[in-house]
Amino acid sequence: MTARIIDGRAFAAGILAEVATETAALAAMGIVPGLAVVLVGEDAASQVYVRNKARRTKEAGMASFEYRLPEDTAETALLALVAELNDDPAVHGILVQLPLPGHIDTARVLDAVSPDKDVDGFHVINAGRLAAGLPGLVPCTPLGCLLMLKAELGDLSGARAVVLGRSNIVGKPMAALLLRESCTVTIAHSRTRNFPDECRRADILVAAVGQPELVRGDWIKPGATVLDVGINRVATEGNNTRLVGDVAFAEALTVAGRITPVPGGVGPMTIACLLRNTLTAARRSAR
Ligand code: NDP
Repeated sequence: MTARIIDGRAFAAGILAEVATETAALAAMGIVPGLAVVLVGEDAASQVYVRNKARRTKEAGMASFEYRLPEDTAETALLALVAELNDDPAVHGILVQLPLPGHIDTARVLDAVSPDKDVDGFHVINAGRLAAGLPGLVPCTPLGCLLMLKAELGDLSGARAVVLGRSNIVGKPMAALLLRESCTVTIAHSRTRNFPDECRRADILVAAVGQPELVRGDWIKPGATVLDVGINRVATEGNNTRLVGDVAFAEALTVAGRITPVPGGVGPMTIACLLRNTLTAARRSAR
């Protein structure tokens, strides 16, 4: 068997096109969705992410507001900016790029963002809403995974889903979303006994552990759908590096029914879902 490779770039392009169409319709009613991105410091990877987000935001027809603050910005100054953005009616989504410098309390800053503008879905109110099955803003990466799963498989009800990793940004919200779709959900993590056996039970396997190629081909149930969230940079010959996921892709390809590649799988969906969340927040602000 050779698995069908799920093309995350194509999925993301479809979502971005839908978002652009609906953004234009909302703008015609006088509401231009606006996303504010706040970057503190000079982290090279974060700068690339912020640049990409701003570009995509503008391409979707939304207003993009960028705030680049120096590394030594005081926490009080950052909190003051967040408060200002919370009160700004032109801003519907606020994203504080992580990681923040060490002298800033990340949890305090994330909790200062209005839950209605929390397009990352990291606020405890939104985490609580998701856990309680109430509408709210959902973290972008698991939301992207869910949209791909539903498009690929249709009704997920009754499927046995195993989520590898229990972080607040991927593992836990992913599990909550799959439960909401009536899957039978297991969350596995570093203390799980018989980790490979848990994987082997999965009709849907979502890997988000941040360990290069941890999941081997013989841990996968034949025909399973495998979503690989991991992004790991590994060394190759001659001082080069390449990106790999949490799943040994070549091995998995011969066993799984469907699989996302790295890169080009889950990654592109994250930014598409960020803009989808911004559109959702803008629509709700109009009510
Ligand atoms: P975290 O480091 O916050 O969480 C990793 C989780 O994996 C933890 O729950 C940890 O268990 C578990 N884990 C780690 N090692 C093992 C192991 N050997 N066996 C079993 N479980 C293990 O990571 P994130 O959730 O933030 O990210 C996970 C991966 O997804 C990373 O590679 C990250 O780069 C990527 N990512 C990709 C995104 C995208 O857009 N595609 C977005 C966000 C993340 P424990 O809790 O017990 O420590």
